[in-house]
Amino acid sequence: MKSSNKIIIAIDGFSSTGKSTIAKQLANKLGYLYVDTGAMYRAVTLYSMQNNFVDTDYLKKEALIGSLQHITLSFKYNEKLKFSEMYLNGINVENEIRSLAVSKLVSTVSALSAVRKKLVEQQQKMGEESGIVMDGRDIGTVVFPEAELKLFMTASPEKRATRRYKELLEKGHDVSYEEVLHNVEQRDYLDSTRKDSPLIKAKGAIEFDNSDMGLKEQFERILSITERHISVS
Ligand code: C5P
Repeated sequence: MKSSNKIIIAIDGFSSTGKSTIAKQLANKLGYLYVDTGAMYRAVTLYSMQNNFVDTDYLKKEALIGSLQHITLSFKYNEKLKFSEMYLNGINVENEIRSLAVSKLVSTVSALSAVRKKLVEQQQKMGEESGIVMDGRDIGTVVFPEAELKLFMTASPEKRATRRYKELLEKGHDVSYEEVLHNVEQRDYLDSTRKDSPLIKAKGAIEFDNSDMGLKEQFERILSITERHISVS
């Protein structure tokens, strides 16, 4: 059931296109819930690593699928940071899930239909009340195909890798620019070509290329689009 004139905002796009930055800004401005679905796939990936379901780059898919019932994912709002952090079985994993090791494996984990089914169900429940901004790869196509506003974010691979590289260095991860660029391109390829819920622009989505756009300009433009959608919903 939809409450007041709150809407669902679905943000999809390639890796490191700034989806979570704009999603957080919109959620804070509108007083909406923000859900980073990538964090959920990352947490399942971390669980696989912690439980030895990964041998070098090989994922023991059956073992992971058989253990899905032991994985509980939740978000807890951090007042100081002003966003919800990811908890895996009650433990805050916000920093660990951003590592390059997790990034390298996450697209293999997220291609599994059993994993997607579990997470999509949880995501759809979170959106029952509307007033939500959710970002990911299949939000406008699968999770909320009826979302009132759908955005599809793009930017050049080099710009995206540069942003992600800076972010990782700031958080103290030891990585090279080349590794990050390779990972961004690899994930784009895997995410766009998988069988189940590939990354594609949803019907009715507004495409937004922010390669040459500052954060302030991006926020102002997207906020104005959003306000128009809220007033007509
Ligand atoms: O958004 P982020 O880059 O953190 O997402 C990490 C990975 O999780 C993506 O590369 C993709 O493989 C997977 N993902 C997905 N569906 C979503 C969100 C993320 O498959 N809705």
